[in-house]
Amino acid sequence: GQCVTHCPTGALTVRDDTGRVLKALADPELTTVIQVAPAVRVAWAESFGLSPEVGTAGRMVAALKRMGFNYVFDTNFTADLTIMEEGSEFLERFTHRDGYSWPMYTSCCPGWVRFLKSQFPGQVAGLSTAKSPQQMFGAVAKSYLAQKLGLDPHKIFVVSIMPCSAKKAECALPSMKDACGDPDVDVVLTTREMDRLLRSDCVLPGDLPEEKFDSPLGTGTGAAVIFGATGGVMDAALRSAYYLVTGSNPDADAFTAVRGSKPWKEAVFTVPGAGDVKVAVVSGLGNARALVEAVEAGEVSYDFVEVMACPGGCAGGGGQPIHGGVELAEPRGKRLWELDAKADIRFSHENPEVQALYAEYLGQPLGEKSHHLLHTDHEAWRMPSQR
Ligand code: SF4
Repeated sequence: GQCVTHCPTGALTVRDDTGRVLKALADPELTTVIQVAPAVRVAWAESFGLSPEVGTAGRMVAALKRMGFNYVFDTNFTADLTIMEEGSEFLERFTHRDGYSWPMYTSCCPGWVRFLKSQFPGQVAGLSTAKSPQQMFGAVAKSYLAQKLGLDPHKIFVVSIMPCSAKKAECALPSMKDACGDPDVDVVLTTREMDRLLRSDCVLPGDLPEEKFDSPLGTGTGAAVIFGATGGVMDAALRSAYYLVTGSNPDADAFTAVRGSKPWKEAVFTVPGAGDVKVAVVSGLGNARALVEAVEAGEVSYDFVEVMACPGGCAGGGGQPIHGGVELAEPRGKRLWELDAKADIRFSHENPEVQALYAEYLGQPLGEKSHHLLHTDHEAWRMPSQR
């Protein structure tokens, strides 16, 4: 259910879905599967007063296992999958330019998708059709994972931990359901709600030994963890697009021009065999508005644009712990880039579990199964103002 917190007059409510998760955990019929978004791992421990050295992703996994989730997986896995689909989609559009709307926009931020639909409906055709990593995860859990584990997909309950309240609306969209009408994702909790959930069960994460994410949806590369910081999706997509065109990897740090906290970044990269790719990265909806207005006025022209609604990207998302008067998007984002720099694998196309998913189940990026499970039609639902 929902409860009222924080506001002394009751005029403002904070939605709280932890009760729905506790109910699912207590249901012996259900297999509970939880995924944790990239940006959550660098913020969740703030509420417990733990330093980044203690408040690691491994302790978060251990704490969630204590809560009783059957499988604790990583949205980084489907961030890599998103790159495979979205990077392939970009190359398909880039090499068959006519008939597509330009630029191509990223589609993983539901705040941005909603903003574009309501403010610039003429630009919606530019959105990538790739579902966000959260939605791809739910779709893969209720198909591939169900088949692999011999489970009834209707009895799999998918919980997401997201840095974001807009993800709750995204998972409720009519276009984010399977053929039976089951949602890809059953409940979204924000980072703050996850922290409350752990407290409600008296879990003390700081005292737990670190544990690993479960397999087969628990492996993510350095290219995936940077989805949580502004510029990260573009950086990851360019790394794999380069590989897909040339057959060899670029330097993993070849695209640093899209990183950093500047609210509107532009760069041109040469991909041998494909040509010059003009990209832009913006975060914050004021900057997004300025960029789309400039696109519509013909003042700028890009091939690929990454947009995140929250300034600094998901690291500073609306569901993250709040500290009065302090903005933490930048230091949290910096820690995500550090995780990428020290990752063993830094290219989404080298994620062994994603490779296995294609080999065993999906076939190839943009194939028929991918089309049904991993892509969406942004025109299939209407904004309240458009009804
Ligand atoms: Fe959610 Fe903000 Fe991230 Fe967009 S940028 S997905 S609104 S947290």
